This record gives sequence, structure tokens and C-alpha cells, in this order.
Amino acid sequence: MIHTREFNFTQSVNQSFDKAARFTKWDTGILKQIKACNAVYRMKFPVRMDDGRIEVIEAYRVQHSQHKTPCKGGIRFAAEVNQDEVMALASLMTYKCAIVNVPFGGAKGGIKINPKAHSPYELEKITRRYTAELIKKNFIGPGTDVPAPDYGTGEREMAWIVDTYQSLRPGEIDAAGCVTGKPVTQGGVRGRREATGLGVFYGLREVCNMPDVMGRLGLTTGVTGKRVIVQGLGNVGYHTAKFFHDAGAKIVALSEYEGAIYNDEGLNIEEVFEHRKTTGSILNFPQAHNFDKNTDALEYECDILVPAALENVINGDNAPRVKAKIIGEAANGPLTPEADEIFIEKGTLVVPDIYLNAGGVTVSYFEWLKNLSHVRYGRMEKRFNENMNAHILGQMEELTGKRVVEHERQFIMHGASEAELVYSGLEETMIDATHEIMNEWKRNPDIPDMRTAAFVVAINKVANAYVELGIFP
Ligand code: GLU
Repeated sequence: MIHTREFNFTQSVNQSFDKAARFTKWDTGILKQIKACNAVYRMKFPVRMDDGRIEVIEAYRVQHSQHKTPCKGGIRFAAEVNQDEVMALASLMTYKCAIVNVPFGGAKGGIKINPKAHSPYELEKITRRYTAELIKKNFIGPGTDVPAPDYGTGEREMAWIVDTYQSLRPGEIDAAGCVTGKPVTQGGVRGRREATGLGVFYGLREVCNMPDVMGRLGLTTGVTGKRVIVQGLGNVGYHTAKFFHDAGAKIVALSEYEGAIYNDEGLNIEEVFEHRKTTGSILNFPQAHNFDKNTDALEYECDILVPAALENVINGDNAPRVKAKIIGEAANGPLTPEADEIFIEKGTLVVPDIYLNAGGVTVSYFEWLKNLSHVRYGRMEKRFNENMNAHILGQMEELTGKRVVEHERQFIMHGASEAELVYSGLEETMIDATHEIMNEWKRNPDIPDMRTAAFVVAINKVANAYVELGIFP
């Protein structure tokens, strides 16, 4: 009988790591170094609120690994933010970047506030002060640590961060690369907004296109007609649902914190979104039924369940009742290790976060490359573009000391529009990662699940970097 213990996110990630480490050949010292969080910055700072009151804000930035620099990861605004959560999320970034071959270490930030309880003016002051604190301690910069959006943040906050950075570090030529997920007009890249959801779709589509995998699950090949449930209608959940809907899947249920709805004929995601905008809730959508509780959606009949909000939503308690054949982790850490064990037993395929939601950081990498190269893609005449970009490419390789891999080379050299380049780069990245993980799993039939296979891929890449670099001094 499995009982749900109190949830410790870092422990839960490390449990998955240890489970996978057994399938690798690395020295225990190297494995210990990979798991460790290199630096944790916990801060408190005062902010004057609109009514004149001073509130002391608690915030974090964690740099999990620096085997590749800069380190990279989003900033979360949520009332539940705590050190354990930010450390776990930073470690997931390390593994995620390794799997999709994005040359960054892992990091994450969090501010312990409920963003809905603050005015935009207060949020701006909190974000700017947080950025100033990061600058003081060298926890932000295009070559050291590059934040991005996460739960509760978006383009608006990223614009405040870049503006604060540029104000406090005047004249720094690559300053725009200090943060990604910026508005396109402020050095952002087209396609970043939908990148995580699109990556989730590309990854799951690739899995659905594998006849052997679908055969084992008793499902037909392809996405068309699949019954899909999405939990969380934030940036990631909304875009995931939209891409599935556009590809001919049926979104049979949607869940948000205020409630959940279902319709076996399929929901039109744009219309639900509009309904929520006007009424403030997805409930009572005319072409749907309400569930009693928002968690009921997780247990409804479907082929693919996509948790796209927060961690620990599927655990030892509710996992036995989940009917989905495939669970696609769009959120970070939505399943506990206990849930994993239950799904292995049930034969449910869990497509893990450290690979499936890597679309965001992949396109962040494209944005960062764009900022460092000071180029605007898709504007210049192709031939001129190629000459010019060959020059930029040389400079970039010199600057970053890294060899720019083939699809980034194409990204820089090619004359196509920015959105086309981003979409195709992301698609290729997600397809390659799917096959790399599945091949690892096939190579070793003792590996119990896809998460373990993904961790094996990540550990091998990070360990290799540590061994090659050696230990300083
Ligand atoms: N917050 C996102 C994640 O969890 C994106 C991170 C980034 O783009 O750096 O992957």
C-alpha cells in the first residue's frame, strides 16, 4: 500500500536522479557534484506598496550548475515559493538543457508573492528591486545567469528586468541578453511566447507517431482524434491545448484553479478562453458541463492528460484513479515518485518534464543568440544576410568560446523569417530528443520508464562535461 508523504520537491527530483544513475557508469563523486546546487541566494528586500505600507519581500535565485555558462531558468511569482521548490526547479533546468543540447547550466528564481494581490505598479517595483539585488551579487548577466518567464511572469516582467539591467549597467553591449522571453519589440524572438506549449505538442506528436509505442498502449498512431485533457490554462497549457486542437485532437476537458469543464465532443479552446476573459471563469461555458471539483478533470476518461500548472498535482492518492494512457508533463514536477511507480505498474506512459517542456528554454537560447549577435533575422536580402551572418557567427564563436552546433548555424546563416526558423529549430530539437531518449530506453530494457531514460541521457551529458573540465584547482 502506497501512502503520500509530505512533498519535498528536491528530494523527489533526486530520487528520479538516483534511480537513473544506476544505469550509468559514473563515479559517485561526479554524480554527487551533478546533483548538488552550486549557489543559493535567498534575499529579503523592502518595497513600498501603493497605500504607503512597507512590505518585506522574500525571494530566491538558485544556480544549480555552471558546467556550462550562463546558467538559465525562469523566475516564478507565487505565494507558495520556497527554497526547496526553487532548488528543485533549478536542478530540472540543468537536466532539461542537457537533453535538448542547449549549452546552459541550470538556474531558477522565485519571488514569494501572490501576483494577483498586487497592482501592476507594485509588481514593477518588486521586479526591479529583485533585479537590482541580483545585479549586486552577480546573479544576472548575459554571460553568468539569464532569467526567463515562469509561472506567474511573462513578457512584461522580462521587459522591466532588461530595462533595470540596462539602467544599472550602462553601455554593456550585450545587455539585452541578460534575460529572455522579452517582448519582440524589446529584443525578444518571435515564437518564444508559444514555445513551451508548441514543444509539448511536438514532443507528444512524435511519441504518438511511434507505432510500437502506440501499439503497446492500445492506441492508434497519430494525434488526430486523440482525447486530450489539459490542466492549467496559463501560457503553457493554453498553447498546448491550442496546438492539439488545431492538429485535430479533441480537448475533452480543461481544468483551472476556479473549476473544470468537459465535453466529449471536444471544446473550442479559443472560445473557452474568451468566455473566461468575459466572465472571469471557465465554469458555465455554454457548450460544456462543469465538474464538481477541478481535480475531477485529472481522472476523466482520455488518451492524453497534460498537467500544465504546478508540481505535485498527481501523487500516490489520485494516480490510481487516473485513466489516461499517456501523461505529458508540461509543468515542472507535476508527478511525485509514488505516482511514477503506480503508472509503471499500470502501463501508463509518462512523458517527462525534463524533456517535454524544454521548448521554452530552447527558444530562449535562440533569443539569447539573437541578442548576442545584434542581428534582426528575416529582414536583409538573403545573400547579404549570409555574408553578414558568417561574420557574426565567427564573432559569436569567439565570444562564447563555444562551437555553434549545426541547427544554430542554420538559424544564423539562413535567410528565412524569424518565426519559421524558431518553429523549425524547435521541431527538430523536440524530435531529436524524443528519439534519443526512446533509443536509450530500448538499449537498456531494465530501465523502467521514460523519465529514467531521460535522466540517463541528461546525466551522461552533464557528467561528460564535468569529467572533461576536470576539478578546479
Ligand atoms: N521557465 C521555463 C522552464 O521551466 C523556461 C526557462 C528559460 O527559458 O530559461 O523551462
